[in-house]
Amino acid sequence: MMKSPLEILQQYFGYDNFRLEQANAVENVIAKKDTFVLMPTGGGKSLCYQVPALVLEGTAIVISPLIALMKDQVDALRVNGISAAYINSSMSAFEQNETLNQLKNGQLKLLYVAPEKLSADNGAFLKLLNDVNISLFAVDEAHCVSHWGHDFRPDYLFLNGIKKQFPKVPIIALTASADEITRKDIIKQLNLQEPLVLISSFDRANIKYFVQPKQSVLHNIIQYLNEHPNDSGIIYCLSRKGTEEMSNNLRENGINSAFYHAGINSIERAKVQEDFLKDKTRVMVATIAFGMGIDKSNVRFVMHADLPKNIESYYQETGRAGRDGLPSEAILFYSYADVIKLRRFAMVEGNEEQSDLMLQKLQQMADFAEMQKCRRQYLMEYFGEKHDGNCNSCDFCLSDFETWDATVDAQKLLSAIHRLKERYGKNLIIDFLRGSKSVKITDSMRSLPTYGMGNDQDKNYWQNLLRQLLINGFLSESDGEFYVLKLNEESNQVLFKNKKVILKKVKEQAKAVTVEEMETDYSTPEFDVNEDLFSELRALRREIAERENVPPY
Ligand code: ADP
Ligand code: MG
Ligand code: ZN
Repeated sequence: MMKSPLEILQQYFGYDNFRLEQANAVENVIAKKDTFVLMPTGGGKSLCYQVPALVLEGTAIVISPLIALMKDQVDALRVNGISAAYINSSMSAFEQNETLNQLKNGQLKLLYVAPEKLSADNGAFLKLLNDVNISLFAVDEAHCVSHWGHDFRPDYLFLNGIKKQFPKVPIIALTASADEITRKDIIKQLNLQEPLVLISSFDRANIKYFVQPKQSVLHNIIQYLNEHPNDSGIIYCLSRKGTEEMSNNLRENGINSAFYHAGINSIERAKVQEDFLKDKTRVMVATIAFGMGIDKSNVRFVMHADLPKNIESYYQETGRAGRDGLPSEAILFYSYADVIKLRRFAMVEGNEEQSDLMLQKLQQMADFAEMQKCRRQYLMEYFGEKHDGNCNSCDFCLSDFETWDATVDAQKLLSAIHRLKERYGKNLIIDFLRGSKSVKITDSMRSLPTYGMGNDQDKNYWQNLLRQLLINGFLSESDGEFYVLKLNEESNQVLFKNKKVILKKVKEQAKAVTVEEMETDYSTPEFDVNEDLFSELRALRREIAERENVPPY
C-alpha cells in the first residue's frame, strides 16, 4: 500500500501538516502534472518535490544552483533515512561516477544536480538520463532560467529540452522571486504543459519595513546595533569594497561583524558563512552574493546600505529576516543618487528590451522607497496580491502623516508638460519650469507662458513633486529609453476641472532625495507667479474648449 503524502511528511520529515500551497503542489506532481510554485523564501518549497519524490517510483532529479547548500540538503535527507545524492563539478571524476552508478542502478530517490552538469560534455548527463527511471524533475530557483529574473544562469537554458526528451515526466518549477513576466517566461522556457500555478502569500507579517534617508548611515547603524544588543542580522552593500569598509568600521566600534562577497575564496567564504550561521558572528556585511537559500532562522534585521536593483531582490534579501516567525526589521537607507548610479548597471549592451525592463524595475524600487503609502501594500501588490494598506508595521503606517495641498504647483508642472507638447522628460520640464538658461531650452520654448513659472522652488522640490504625481497617478510616463512625461485623465482633471491634488507627507521624516544639482543658472522671476499661472490655466482651458468643439478625427 502506497503511503499518503501526509504520512510521508510526518514519518520522514517530522512535520504535522503541510503549509501554504505545499499539499496542492505535492498532489499535482504525484498526478504527474507540471507545477509552478511561487512561494516566499522560507515558505517550504523543498518539500513540494521531496514528498512526491518519495511517493512516486524512480528518481527525482533536482536542479539547484546552490552548490554550497546541496550537501546540506542531501545530508538532511539522509539523516531522515532517504537515499539522496548530489553531483557537481567540485567532485572528483571518481565520486561523480560512483553517484552516476547509483543513479543507473535505481538506488536514489533524489539526485541533486548542479546546473553546470547539464551543459558539461555536450549534455552527456541528460543523455544518460534516458536509461533512468525518473519520477520528476524539480527546477529549484527557477527564475534562473529567465532573462527577466534577477539571477539568470545560462546553464539553466539546457533545461529547455527536458520536456521534449521526457514528455511523460512531470516538472515542478519553484521560485521565491518572480513577477508576472518572469513567471510566464519560466513556464515558456521550461515548456511546462498546462501547469498548475500555485502562488502562496508573500506577506511576511513579522517583518517591519522601514526606509530611512541615506545620511550618516554608519552612525545610524551603530546606534541601531547598540539599541538592539542581542540582535543579529545582515547588512547588504552594493560593492565588495563597501562591505569591507563597513565591516571594518563596525569592528572599530566594537561590533562583532564580518564581511562576505564573491571575491573571497570559497574556503574562507564557507567559514565566514558558518560563523554567522552558528551565531559566532553577529553582523554579516555582504554583497548580494550572500544569502541565497541561507536558512538562519534568527536573523533579526536586514539592512540595505545601498539600494537593491529591483523589488525582487529587496524582497528576497529582506525575507532572510525572521524566518523563525519572530518580529524582525528591514531597513533600507535610500538616496536618489543610488538610483542614478544603478541606472548605469541596468544598461545591457545590445539588448534594449532587457535594459528597458531593468530600468523599469529599478524605477519601481525607487518608487517603493519614495512613495508615501504603506510599504507592505506596495510589496504585496507588486507580487500580485491585494492588501488594504493598513499594515501597522511599516514606517508609513507607524508614523503620523499630514496632508498638503499641492494643486497649484501640480498645475504648474502639468501645464509645462502640456505646453511642451508632452515630448520631454523630467529634467527638461523642470529646467523649463524654473526658467533655466540651458541651451536645451530653445528660444521658442522661452516664449511660452509657463517658462520660469516654477522659479520659486528648487530643483529637488520639483523632482519630488513630479515623482509624487507619477506615483499617485496624476501623471504618466511613456515607456522607452527617455521616459517622456505624458498627461493622463487625472492630469486633465487637475488642469481643467479643478481637481485638487492632496499629497501625504510623513511627519518627522525627511526624505533623502539628494540629486546633485546640474550646472544650470536660472533667471530671476519677473512676474507674479500665481497671477501668471492663473492666466496660463485660463488660456489652456480655452484651447481645450475649442478643441472639444472640434469633431473627433
Ligand atoms: P524555501 O526553499 O521555500 O526557502 P525550505 O524548503 O528551505 O524553504 O524550508 C524552509 C524551512 O521551513 C525549513 O526549515 C523547513 O524544514 C521548514 N518547513 C517546510 N515545510 C514545513 C512544514 N509543512 N511544517 C513545518 N516546517 C516546514
Ligand atoms: Mg529553497
Ligand atoms: Zn504599512
